[in-house]
Amino acid sequence: MAEIDNIPFCDRKATNRTAVSKSNNIEVMDKIGRVPFWKKAELAVTVRIKNGLAALTEFFTGIPSAEYTDRKRDRRIFVGRDGKVRIPLLGFQIAFGCNLKCEHCCLMNPFQSGVSSKEVLIDSFRRWSEILVPKKIYLSGGEPFLHPEITDVAAAVKRYFPHSRLDIITNAVLLPKIDDRILQTLARMNVHLNISIHQNTSEYLAALNQTLDRLRHFRLRYKTNDSFYGWQKFLETAETGEPIPANSNPATAWKNCSGHHCIAVIEDKLYRCNRLAYMIHALQAGEIGLEWSRVLSHKPVTPDNSPEEIRNYLRMRGMPECSVCPERPVQVPARQLSTEEVLRIKQHIRQKNKEAA
Ligand code: SF4
Ligand code: SF4
Repeated sequence: MAEIDNIPFCDRKATNRTAVSKSNNIEVMDKIGRVPFWKKAELAVTVRIKNGLAALTEFFTGIPSAEYTDRKRDRRIFVGRDGKVRIPLLGFQIAFGCNLKCEHCCLMNPFQSGVSSKEVLIDSFRRWSEILVPKKIYLSGGEPFLHPEITDVAAAVKRYFPHSRLDIITNAVLLPKIDDRILQTLARMNVHLNISIHQNTSEYLAALNQTLDRLRHFRLRYKTNDSFYGWQKFLETAETGEPIPANSNPATAWKNCSGHHCIAVIEDKLYRCNRLAYMIHALQAGEIGLEWSRVLSHKPVTPDNSPEEIRNYLRMRGMPECSVCPERPVQVPARQLSTEEVLRIKQHIRQKNKEAA
């Protein structure tokens, strides 16, 4: 906990303001054990509004809406007068594995394991803080609360990026087992939890309600996202269950991809897309099949690149490696893989790689 004691708690008074947000529907879903009809209606209306706005934008500007959004985003990535690159959002992936095994996981986490070491992460924060100024930072995984030194890691982010808001993206399943002191420390650091709800079973939601009560007790800010409904699948899978690369037109895959705004650092390298970063990491760790080797052609940037090179890389629209993603992601129901299924798939991948080697 040495890191925690040294950080300046500059945001401490912020925790005295409205400290928590509330989830609207969890208690209701807990009672009825399924997605309430107004949740489905809300999603349908949101999609229609978004499509309508996209069509209007296209009509008035003559620019396709996806292109319009990308141009707007590009304007927020620039080199400031101090020579540092401004970006709206930067992720640090601190864990590779996950306690859940979502079949629709776009980061291949059910097949991965391990965490980044604290020392490597802190050194990475130091190096990137000399060149990047992110408005918001998120710590992500897999499941970041699998990291045994998460408070030290969060404290180091606050020290090196004192002006960036810090979010932790979690499925919250491990939070009941987390020590009070850790939650208190995160609250004092004004960390926000971004909770993805991956199941709507009664037991899960009941446990989640208790967890949210605990967060409110510690005045730890959070927001919840329903990730069990309307989920899109971004990876193709073989009949045996393992993820397999698509053979898509990269431009179409990029255009229909909702993940190309997720800039992330993994093991000190900055990637335009965190999903691609995870594919490369999983392949190098032997956790997915050698048929993914196409992704190794991708060259991420490092803090040794110049600010202009980093800006240009982050403004890149479309990559040849996008061909491994499907052109049209499909909506799937959320499902958890069983431990046996994961073991069987991993065994199959290992066997296949051994034969191919
Ligand atoms: S909780 Fe998130 S990271 Fe974990 S397996 Fe599910 S989708 Fe992937
Ligand atoms: S590789 Fe391309 S298409 Fe695939 S997730 Fe990343 S940005 Fe999207």
